[in-house]
Amino acid sequence: MKQTLQMRKIQDKMAPGVITRDGFLGEDRRNLVDILTQDDGTVRRLGYRHQDIAMRMVELRDAGMAGLGEFIDVETRFEVRVDSVRGKLPCPFGDPGIFPKTNTTVRNKTLGRELTFTDLHIHLIGSHGFYEGQGSAFRLDPEELIAILEVQKAVE
Ligand SMILES: [Zn+2]
Repeated sequence: MKQTLQMRKIQDKMAPGVITRDGFLGEDRRNLVDILTQDDGTVRRLGYRHQDIAMRMVELRDAGMAGLGEFIDVETRFEVRVDSVRGKLPCPFGDPGIFPKTNTTVRNKTLGRELTFTDLHIHLIGSHGFYEGQGSAFRLDPEELIAILEVQKAVE
């Protein structure tokens, strides 16, 4: 797919030092449209929608809030910790609103694996299908998200 001028402008905002110190793309030199297309293909191939993943992230974050910054058991198979960090971030895609820098860590006890995401990640995935560039320290791999969070497929 072709990168539009609008996509180019969004990608500029993802560079280091514009919205966040490290930016959203890591070492990824591909056009944003190609990053989005590849991750969209992965999620579709596995039979999910970006919204299913984002909804699961919200569900686990909300359940973890009760721990007030400590790990708590959620659904017996998970431990979740929600840390509120001062500050808010805007979305690089330019829609209105800013997102609290809340960090949610989910440990899947069955798999022995964990990952951490922010409220902005939830928005970027649910609204834009964006998981950050390859090599970004904050990239969330869609296959890992689906496995670790045990995302359920939407009922047709
Ligand atoms: Zn957005």
